Amino acid sequence: MAGYRIRRTDRRERRTVHASSGEEPTASPSWTVGDIIIHRIDEVPLPPATGPWLLPGATKDVVARQDWLRPDFADPEGVLRIDSHSFALSAGGLRVLVDTGIGNGKTRANPAWHNLRTDYLERLATAGFPPDSVDLVVLTHLHTDHVGWNTRKQHGAWVPTFPNARHVISRTEREFWAGHDMDEPRRQMFRDSVDPLEDAGLLDLVDVPAEGADIAPGLRLIPTPGHTPGHIAVRISSHGESGLITGDCIHHPVQLADPAIGSCVDIDPAESEATRRALLGSLADTHTLVLGTHFPPPTAGRVIRHENTYRLSPVPAVRRVLPR
Ligand SMILES: [Zn+2]
Repeated sequence: MAGYRIRRTDRRERRTVHASSGEEPTASPSWTVGDIIIHRIDEVPLPPATGPWLLPGATKDVVARQDWLRPDFADPEGVLRIDSHSFALSAGGLRVLVDTGIGNGKTRANPAWHNLRTDYLERLATAGFPPDSVDLVVLTHLHTDHVGWNTRKQHGAWVPTFPNARHVISRTEREFWAGHDMDEPRRQMFRDSVDPLEDAGLLDLVDVPAEGADIAPGLRLIPTPGHTPGHIAVRISSHGESGLITGDCIHHPVQLADPAIGSCVDIDPAESEATRRALLGSLADTHTLVLGTHFPPPTAGRVIRHENTYRLSPVPAVRRVLPR
């Protein structure tokens, strides 16, 4: 494995996680890729106004023509359902979190993100991932709703939530924002959710070439630029099976029906569309399990070709019963 190698610490002895028994102690929704269990860690459903703002091309008429989106991915009125969640998994002996949501108590201009009080960390612990146990946090990109739980407030200061974890982003992503003339809300997001990781020496920048970058056994970062210049998706491989966590290169299944539908916050809309078309073409009619970072339940599925575009064939999560 060339490129990035996670730096292990000697802090493992202090952990409180259970030894793996093959059956994770969890009631969280999860999927299996080979012998890797991928848990969805729910944060919050985003309000109905999110869809028309985020994906302005997904008008009610456009959504109405895609009856397969209802009832799970759109309501009867044609309003898209959009969620915020993370994915947690164990791969190669590492406990991994992909994206960290919006976070609690953050001051944000968007009311849907402002000053949340969710049980996210409890849900993460219930899935078997107490914060101290996390080894690796992968950030698909540096937007507010993907970096929030990087930190939590303790004694008036924002401190890393996962102090034993390396946090990885693509080098392109970090360097883009370093050279970007950020407005004050974005600077605030960096101050409360990114700078504390850098100050603590917990952030690693990874070079992600076109073919992807392996960061752990079974985990590969895939460059998916457009939404942001250094955006990455995460490919999971185990025993001949594969999965892909989208990040924000695809926000919603409606973009399978029309990959030209972009998000209002795509930094390069044309590149974002090209990325989506290439990715969907590579995924179509394969067995790869696609897990959407903003897809509401059932959240995951397989991409199938339909006429000239695509659809998502849902793969519902399993909820494992907590062992007694
Ligand atoms: Zn997002």
